[in-house]
Amino acid sequence: MQTKNFIGFPEQKLIAIFEELGEPGYRARQALTWVYHYGIKDFMEMTNLSKNLRTRLAERFHISLPKINKKDLSRDGTIKYLFELSDGKMIESVWMPSDSRRTLCVSSQVGCRLNCSFCMTATMGLQRNLEASEIVGQIMAVNEDLQEKDSISNIVLMGMGEPLDNYDALVDAVRIMISPEAMKISTRKVTVSTSGLVDKIKKFQEENLHVNLAISLNATENATRDVLIPINKKYPIEVLLECLRNYPLKPQRRLTFEYILLKGINDSQEDAERLVHLLKGIPCKINLIPFNPFAPSQYLPPSVETVANFQNYLIERNFTTFVRKNRGADIMGACGQLAASSQSQPVPA
Ligand code: SAH
Repeated sequence: MQTKNFIGFPEQKLIAIFEELGEPGYRARQALTWVYHYGIKDFMEMTNLSKNLRTRLAERFHISLPKINKKDLSRDGTIKYLFELSDGKMIESVWMPSDSRRTLCVSSQVGCRLNCSFCMTATMGLQRNLEASEIVGQIMAVNEDLQEKDSISNIVLMGMGEPLDNYDALVDAVRIMISPEAMKISTRKVTVSTSGLVDKIKKFQEENLHVNLAISLNATENATRDVLIPINKKYPIEVLLECLRNYPLKPQRRLTFEYILLKGINDSQEDAERLVHLLKGIPCKINLIPFNPFAPSQYLPPSVETVANFQNYLIERNFTTFVRKNRGADIMGACGQLAASSQSQPVPA
């Protein structure tokens, strides 16, 4: 019998298997604790489980993480990890330290099929979905690689891929991230980022996970957004925002809107005005992301002054607005620059 990866395996299904084996549910939680809290990779080391149970588990499961193939260290302290998966495919994750947190930007697919015109991952097309084990495996492998003091505090699903286009694995992975028996990361510290797949956003809210949701809005008019994010033709701006106005948020929680700034495309004063109009009344914060260049993209970032004016206009209208630093740009680790293996060509400074 082919064994399944214990990493990423859903807790509820695990409890069901334990019950089939005549074991109470709390034993499943003990096994989870060994793996996710203590990093144990061999069932035989789970000494509070019977020898018989350990053997039965080892017959059904293996415990393995994606392999770190390469690490690039940026001048700003960011580390880009290249992972080799069991079928030889490559994905990237980016670890970003700041004063108060250490964030890992995690991939959800090998490539992506949404074909956004400003995104390097799009140039790969979709090669395959990641499994839940490969999504949470990125976090575990990076934590094992780093010293305890550098261990990851926040997760953003903003790496390669569209998380909601790999729905089932994404939900399984998020459940493991936030489960007290497994990775026990606070729901406030996990962010799922989407290009705006409205049907999947509606489904996701039903899961009651209450992690943060970020939406890559990126434009204020459908004509522009259709070009930047072709899925906009299926889910245009007004449909997306209507869905988000009804998105259930816990008290004190807000949506995040990401807005890439492309010189001459979506960075005008009129864009800032339309953005204010579109987002009025939605509890949210805005992250402006000046375009991170990659060859052979024709887009350019706006001037520092244009970015500052855009930000100030939003702040003056009471929107919490940040400009995202392009962390790790010198190692092609910044937003939208992930495309694994030899495809990553550094951009001349
Ligand atoms: N598919 C998801 C998550 C991956 S993209 C999504 O669309 O949200 C993560 C963020 O990076 C998105 O907000 C996207 O708009 C932004 N991005 C992509 N390419 C970029 C680039 N070259 N420069 C700056 N931001 C980029």
